[in-house]
Amino acid sequence: ITPRQVRNGLFTYVRPEHQSNYELLAISPAAFKTLNLSLDEATTSEFQETVVGNKLWDWDESDPNNRNYPWSQNYGGFQFGSWAGQLGDGRVISLFETTNNNTGRRYELQLKGAGMTPYSRFADGKAVLRSSIREFVVSEALHGLGIPTTRALALTLLPEERVRRERIEPGAIVVRFAETWIRLGNFDLLRARGERGNMRILAEVVAEEVYKGWENLPGRLEEGEITPKTGVKKEVVEGPEGEEQNRYARLYREIVRRNAATVAKWQAYGFMNGVLNTDNTSIFGLSMDFGPYAFMDVFDPSYTPNHDDHMLRYSYRNQPTIIWWNLVRLGEALGEMMGVGARIDDKEYIEKGVVGEEMEKGMVARAEKVIEQAGEEYKEVFLREYKRLMSARLGLKAVKEDDFDGLFSPLLDTLEALELDFNLFFRRLSSVKLADLETEEQRAEQAKVFFYNDGLKETSSDDLEKVADWLAFWKERIIEDWGTGKDEERIKAMKGVNPNFTPRGWIMDEVIRRVEKEGERDVLKRIIHMATYPFEDSWSGREFDGFVYEGDAAEEKRW
Ligand code: AMP
Ligand code: MG
Ligand code: MG
Repeated sequence: ITPRQVRNGLFTYVRPEHQSNYELLAISPAAFKTLNLSLDEATTSEFQETVVGNKLWDWDESDPNNRNYPWSQNYGGFQFGSWAGQLGDGRVISLFETTNNNTGRRYELQLKGAGMTPYSRFADGKAVLRSSIREFVVSEALHGLGIPTTRALALTLLPEERVRRERIEPGAIVVRFAETWIRLGNFDLLRARGERGNMRILAEVVAEEVYKGWENLPGRLEEGEITPKTGVKKEVVEGPEGEEQNRYARLYREIVRRNAATVAKWQAYGFMNGVLNTDNTSIFGLSMDFGPYAFMDVFDPSYTPNHDDHMLRYSYRNQPTIIWWNLVRLGEALGEMMGVGARIDDKEYIEKGVVGEEMEKGMVARAEKVIEQAGEEYKEVFLREYKRLMSARLGLKAVKEDDFDGLFSPLLDTLEALELDFNLFFRRLSSVKLADLETEEQRAEQAKVFFYNDGLKETSSDDLEKVADWLAFWKERIIEDWGTGKDEERIKAMKGVNPNFTPRGWIMDEVIRRVEKEGERDVLKRIIHMATYPFEDSWSGREFDGFVYEGDAAEEKRW
């Protein structure tokens, strides 16, 4: 296989490397369920041969018309804000699509780390065990939290593979699957190359196959769909001749909305992808391509898990802005198609690539308007979803306009100032009983629950007071929604949205070390179980060094 520029092609057929020595390390039982596979499958050699790329399905070498052959996608991308040209699936090969007959959902299965493709550029097409374990676990953890994401089915070790990174590391293959693997970068590439026909084909595929039909896309903006604050309610995108939004504009809006809702969930749970280039931004609003990701520990909005991200471009605080930046690039790629009116002659001009000056002006104006309005919609959807989740995490039943300034912001400021753990705070808050917050003394006592008791740092009474004061507001707000005497129900609801487990960096480091250096295997089973059921508090014992379970806060160590 020769890495090359693939022009006028959206993908390339390519076969995974043959593996003669491999060990299936772990599977995700939840993923088996999603695909409607029986767990017994995992032990068959057919399954194990499939997930390393040795066995191809429904492909008959002698039948020239059978196109059911593995393939790699062609895409480009803006990396750290600059156009990077063709990238593509450099170490990913898709095997086939499969439909869960119970849910009717279709998924594309692919291997990451199965060898070189035409898109490997100057790299080797391999994946190391370390990053494969990280991707395997986080895919299932995000799903467990209810965040839209690509999934992981199985993880296989290639013990004889020696992959050169900073050091020599063992290789591995992750089987991933998703409703689609199309990224914004697929459109970026076609735009950069002026491949108008392929742009249309790709948009068609996204609308028909991924979004299940043009008719399912949002129609004209309806009254009330956008709040008056944005000033765009009830408006439709109108070109000079008064035509409504065309179908490409509606497709764009739906892609924008999906991504807005997903970023809101990342923010509410403190998840950071770390490399939000357009080639890692899903056309379906899925979290995807997990490299140096992290879950927030101590709350620090300017944190980025990416060591090369000196400008903090992909920091926690910037994620919503950056995803919008990426979506504007998509808007530009679709601009010609979104800007064209409903008139057929416009379309013909576009297809031929002959665009008159006047027409171009009109199209640009219309496209810009679509993007501008989509931007307002992005903010709306983001805020609505973010507020909904934060309210739920705080145990509130209703979203009140004042909560943002009155409750969320003061809390986040306090977490940041006192360097408190983001997700742990919510989990611990879940168990606080209202009767324990009556007096100032009681509140100061309860506030201690949120601080690390590592014996290294004395918690000052000032710090305790800050948390205690916030608890006083919180208590009033809870009573407003629940009344009193409802602790049990409220605690249950809160624990259902506030995870007891997230795959923090140091936990992943420990798991990797134990698998790689100590040859442990069961630890993967357990961490996938925890990732799948992050809200449980029934786990007993101490799995990971320093990991805290509900109830043994006194023993915890600082990490
Ligand atoms: P990433 O930063 O992992 O999203 O990858 C960016 C681009 O580099 C994508 O086109 C990847 O397919 C490609 N790439 C990353 N690692 C490798 C590798 N080991 N071999 C081939 N291509 C790679
Ligand atoms: Mg990528
Ligand atoms: Mg990658």
